[in-house]
Amino acid sequence: MLKSPLSKVIRTTANHLHRLKELGINTVEDFLTYFPRAYTDSSEMRKINELRTDEVNTSLVQIRSIFMKKTKTGKTLVRAVVYDETGDMPVLWFNQAHLTRMFRPGDDIILIGKIKFDRGVISMMSPGYETPKKELVHAVRIVPVYHETDLGEATDRGARGRISSKWIREKLHPLLAYTPLFKDFLPEEIKKAGNLIDYSTAIANVHFPKDEDTLNAARRRLAFDELFLLQLAALSRKWQWRNAAHEKNLSMPASNEVIKKFVQKLPFNLTKAQERVVKEILNDMEKSYPMSRLVEGDVGSGKTVVAAIALLNAVANGYQGAVMAPTEVLARQHYHTFMKILQRTHGGINIQFIAGSTPQSAKKDILNQMKTGTVDIVIGTHALIQENVGFKKLGIAVIDEQHRFGVKQREILKSYGAPHLLSLSATPIPRTLALTIYGDQDLSIIDEMPPGRQEIITRVVPESKRIDAYRWVEDQIQKGRQVFVICPLINDSEVLEVKAATEEFDRLKSEIFPQFRLGLLHGRLKQSEKDEVMEGFSKGDIDILVSTAVVEVGIDVPNATIIIIEGSERFGLSQLHQFRGRVGRGEHQSYCFLFPTSTSEDATKRLASLVKHSSGFQLAEIDLQMRGPGEVYGVRQSGIPDLHMATFGDVKLIKESRAVAEKIIEKDPTLKDHPELKSKIAEYENSVAVDY
Ligand code: ADP
Ligand code: MG
Repeated sequence: MLKSPLSKVIRTTANHLHRLKELGINTVEDFLTYFPRAYTDSSEMRKINELRTDEVNTSLVQIRSIFMKKTKTGKTLVRAVVYDETGDMPVLWFNQAHLTRMFRPGDDIILIGKIKFDRGVISMMSPGYETPKKELVHAVRIVPVYHETDLGEATDRGARGRISSKWIREKLHPLLAYTPLFKDFLPEEIKKAGNLIDYSTAIANVHFPKDEDTLNAARRRLAFDELFLLQLAALSRKWQWRNAAHEKNLSMPASNEVIKKFVQKLPFNLTKAQERVVKEILNDMEKSYPMSRLVEGDVGSGKTVVAAIALLNAVANGYQGAVMAPTEVLARQHYHTFMKILQRTHGGINIQFIAGSTPQSAKKDILNQMKTGTVDIVIGTHALIQENVGFKKLGIAVIDEQHRFGVKQREILKSYGAPHLLSLSATPIPRTLALTIYGDQDLSIIDEMPPGRQEIITRVVPESKRIDAYRWVEDQIQKGRQVFVICPLINDSEVLEVKAATEEFDRLKSEIFPQFRLGLLHGRLKQSEKDEVMEGFSKGDIDILVSTAVVEVGIDVPNATIIIIEGSERFGLSQLHQFRGRVGRGEHQSYCFLFPTSTSEDATKRLASLVKHSSGFQLAEIDLQMRGPGEVYGVRQSGIPDLHMATFGDVKLIKESRAVAEKIIEKDPTLKDHPELKSKIAEYENSVAVDY
């Protein structure tokens, strides 16, 4: 019955059904699990003398008189006078003649609306209404508010088939009869221990709660479910990864001599944070099962040497290593870095680079070396594991900027016999959040920058100073520096962004900096074109790089010392911080100029925190508080699941649900004794699956 198509159980138009479909609602179950996005608390009734202006009021009153009039223009006017023990109030409706048939003097009526205050007299214009006899759906309770389709309004003016919250409430209410059919997938003892109500009760009460307490209990249960399933799924993946290497013993004890020699030859000392993370990694590598660890560290915190030590340890233990980066430019950069730092102390290590642009014959040779085991470390893009490539003895895979590395790639790695997995990320996600969404990995955080790192001077530049700023930039370019110009995000539309970036490029080229060499980078270019532009900038053949937000994370152009961010308030703080990390990588003082298009209080406050703080983690926390994770880590950026009932800020519930998930996986790692949970996870993973 829950799977019945809605058309069988509610009476409505094809238009409405179509709109529901657009919301992903096809069956009774879909509809009942379409949870409210908010509630208006109209459970508080106000007397006539308590009604407030600028607010929607709910008031239970009696009708003194009600009658209909035609206006000169032919409209129907219903006029009523209502009262309670505190006074009288006139009420007016247009074109609702049926009201005079529904209500008679002496009837009770509930009015929901705003009041008008005119010459000492209050009145209500076209308020919503309800008769207090039947069960109240729209008023005198906590009223659910749903995400509505505004499509209807935009396309056909008469709003035919428009789905409003009111419409949803009306159609949904009778379906509550079906809620007992929902089977609870949570075991009884978990519910008891966690003080959680039944699933079916939660569903009924999340829509039409009797009071605040029932609503809170329902929301808590559903929020728990989300966080619990998310973490159970992650922990189950973690277990599977640990056991993916089967009988193989992957233990690689720390080769202390080799590592010591390497560290001593570095031109710097490791920071305390780097030392700690290295220890955590080496500890993992010594275990017989594959590691799965995420290293989070701000841009420039020195993740590369940490990864190099892990690779070195694998090689010293007789294994091969692979390093994967999301783009060819980044992969090539890693190749140069690893060559430089590893071969300096360990000249015998064979390191190779392979990517789309590698000539066929060279490619063949490297692939062969991978299979026979002659190459120790191979560096490339994800293609490295997508092609039908094999390794003789792959011991570790390092993945840079892990959020672009998907489930599919993991599966391929598994098929190669699950090596130790080390992910590196510069997206500073606060610890609890990271534990939740990347719960299948252990977490190491490099929370310390190498000493002597220059502060990037960050300034918000008002429009009146724009020309001055350009002049100053001109001077810097003449001194040999390079510049990034980031164009604003536009309505989530890549097409418009590309257009805006192209226009900005043309404008700068013809009007502002005609004497310099400009490059343009955006998401509509082919990868090879992007690579070419980045390469040109990297080599210094381009002075000013105009780019949409696609500018590669992690790219290292030490001579680029200025970054200009247009429409800067449209980006989240974390992303602005990432952009800022594009500069400040060389010997010269670097600058970040924020050009806002809005001077709203919120925008000003956010940009001010960027000027003030230089730690990505701190900024991420601030951003999280100001905007919530949905906004901060949009799906477009990072594939962080969208929570409906829970919030990533609810640390207490996150911890509680994680503890429960851990207990279950500990006892029943394959969930063979929990078939309902197993299928629920599968369902859940399908619904949040992100394509990579
Ligand atoms: P990221 O974490 O962004 O990948 P990198 O590993 O590229 O950062 O390191 C940034 C720069 O800092 C590199 O030039 C690297 O050589 C240098 N570096 C790394 N660790 C230290 C350290 N402990 N002291 C000084 N410089 C360091
Ligand atoms: Mg890096």
